[in-house]
Amino acid sequence: MEVDTVAGVSSRAERKALDKAKIVQRENERNVFKVVTRIMKKAEEDRTEEETRTLLRNQDTVDELCKRHVRSSVLKRKQEEVCDESEELRSKVAQLAETVRQAQHLVVYTGAGISTAASIPDYRGPNGVWTQLQKGQAVCSSDLGKAEPTFTHMCIKMLHKENLVKHVVSQNCDGLHLRSGLPRHALSELHGNMFIEVCTSCTPAREYVRMFDVTERTSLHRHGTGRRCSHCAAELRDTIVHFGERGTLEQPLNWRGASEAAERADVILCLGSSLKVLKKYACLWSMNRPAKRRPKLFIVNLQWTPKDDLATLKINGKCDDVMNLLMKDLDIPIPLYNKAEDPIFDQATPLRLEEEHSHTRSLIAPPAGQEDCSPDTQDPATGKPLQGGWFGRGYSKGRKKKKAI
Ligand SMILES: [Zn+2]
Repeated sequence: MEVDTVAGVSSRAERKALDKAKIVQRENERNVFKVVTRIMKKAEEDRTEEETRTLLRNQDTVDELCKRHVRSSVLKRKQEEVCDESEELRSKVAQLAETVRQAQHLVVYTGAGISTAASIPDYRGPNGVWTQLQKGQAVCSSDLGKAEPTFTHMCIKMLHKENLVKHVVSQNCDGLHLRSGLPRHALSELHGNMFIEVCTSCTPAREYVRMFDVTERTSLHRHGTGRRCSHCAAELRDTIVHFGERGTLEQPLNWRGASEAAERADVILCLGSSLKVLKKYACLWSMNRPAKRRPKLFIVNLQWTPKDDLATLKINGKCDDVMNLLMKDLDIPIPLYNKAEDPIFDQATPLRLEEEHSHTRSLIAPPAGQEDCSPDTQDPATGKPLQGGWFGRGYSKGRKKKKAI
């Protein structure tokens, strides 16, 4: 018993001494780091002999600090936004235009950078969607519903109409490609569409396009939107693929369309994507083909991407600027977004009366001149109050006028 106590005391004392020694050592290391960092900030010719000796004595610390410096400058360079000079941009776009003309099967990949002009936050900015994802928040912020197709969306839709673009693969869930008028079959929305909710109990899955962001109650592994299928009464779910999930819905993800397009592609044009997520989808890059037979890769992005080294051409510019030059080079008129022609007004399924208050998100405003949504609105034809909430009031009037034209 006595022996035990003595041993206990001694080991406690030893532990204490050991702990103290460790603390002192760490403190010393910290001081050395501080001193070495201060000396290294000085130009070599300004260092005293004593300082030079200190550096030699602490070569390990010097090496470690050099390594850290290289790492941080590489990281800084990758995050920097670079813009080509206008002359260089012009000549690069001319090269792109030639390729677009000659391509047999051009596929376009798009990311958040094509929507920033529509005031949608970039993916990796401080308020970007990426940052939200890392906090476990939903991909789509409520502001996304206010955005409209950008210049770039409209150009892509036109290039498809001219049969120059065969398929578009997007990681954006803002629904702007569809709203630009790009047909469904030519689009894969790999991370879903914030305006679409689906019933997976119906076969095939039944889709409901809405005029508001359906994702306000959904998050990682929680996809129920709170509304129900009007055919089978099962709960509807959003189509969003959250970070850390694997999307399995056939539509709007359309993986089959995306991989078939990639398989046939001879040119891939990446617009406004950091490619950090897209690079992980092996089937999009034809890596199974021998290197020489892989599609030509054109990348338009302000920041570094992990595919830059493999690119036939990297264009450092804003998507809208590049598309403007490209359309001029190709001599194709640039269509403007016209809200009255936005397909969402035709595709949207009206909410049932009892669902009217099932969301708090703002509606996509009806086309100009049709924005009267006051609850007392009467149908001009019958004089009777219109039913069905926003749908009956704003939407059907918009349709009537459109048909009259
Ligand atoms: Zn159903």
